[in-house]
Amino acid sequence: MKRTKYTVANWKMNGLTGSINIVKSISRHIKRSKHIKSRIVICPPFTLLSYFAQNDNTISFGGQNCHFLENGAFTGSISAPMLKSVGCKFVIIGHSERRQYQKETSKEINLKIKAAISANLKVIYCIGEKLNQIKNRNVILKRQINSLPINFNNKNIIIAYEPVWAIGTGKTPTADEINNIHLKIRKLLAIKIGASKSNGISILYGGSVNANNAYEILNLPEVDGALVGGASLKAKEFSKIIDSYK
Ligand code: PEP
Repeated sequence: MKRTKYTVANWKMNGLTGSINIVKSISRHIKRSKHIKSRIVICPPFTLLSYFAQNDNTISFGGQNCHFLENGAFTGSISAPMLKSVGCKFVIIGHSERRQYQKETSKEINLKIKAAISANLKVIYCIGEKLNQIKNRNVILKRQINSLPINFNNKNIIIAYEPVWAIGTGKTPTADEINNIHLKIRKLLAIKIGASKSNGISILYGGSVNANNAYEILNLPEVDGALVGGASLKAKEFSKIIDSYK
């Protein structure tokens, strides 16, 4: 089955300076290129979102997180309808940095996914094992897939497989490992929502993707794109990643 490919930039808490130029440069690259094989999504910090989403229609934009309620006394939080109201189409949920530093639980993640879907956002749901969980990877992935809502619509969910030990470290699993793990994830999705629906879900790889390894990773049969952190803050490097699909 032909699935949509996505190249997603996760800027994390970066972009204080030069961010407009990065977006403009990537946008120019997309307009010039005759070889764009993926949908390009940038997830900058909240402060930049509304400006970008309202001034560039070449790229899609997304939040890096949302609250699970629509509004209320939650100082510092942003809700899914708020993201939608400034032009976001996507939201990252369950990133390992939020699981680690904000102590996000599976229950909370499940509620956030439901809130994002209700707000008509596509969810980029991050899953993946820590270094000390590699031997238990299957159990971890199964648990994380089970945090998805029951009977979710496959059009609303994109999975990003991000081994935590590969994020920002320059290390990646081998190409064969990535391909096999993605196959395993698709089987887990099939158990949850049925084989035919699960076949429509894009599964991205994330963790130290850069201009040098993108070609090998992005052209694996089970890989439907990438979630890119560090390398997405450099317009030229991110443009090379965008160009790496066959
Ligand atoms: C990420 O944080 O989602 C990520 C993949 O980071 P990096 O590309 O820097 O490893």
